[in-house]
Amino acid sequence: MQKIYTRCLRCNRKLRTEESKLLGYGKTCWEKFNAQDNFKELFPESCLTRVSVPKIDSEAGGNNA
Ligand SMILES: [Zn+2]
Repeated sequence: MQKIYTRCLRCNRKLRTEESKLLGYGKTCWEKFNAQDNFKELFPESCLTRVSVPKIDSEAGGNNA
């Protein structure tokens, strides 16, 4: 069974919609919560090593006519 929240876990305001009650966050807070989560995913603490970004080393030093 899904837990039903009555107040926002972030700002503690009363949740009005069923969707918000299921999420535990109001619409605005949910968006912020998701944004934070995505940010964490981009920079996981366990992976502090450099992200393998392909270095664009354009050696286009072709023949200069
Ligand atoms: Zn909230």
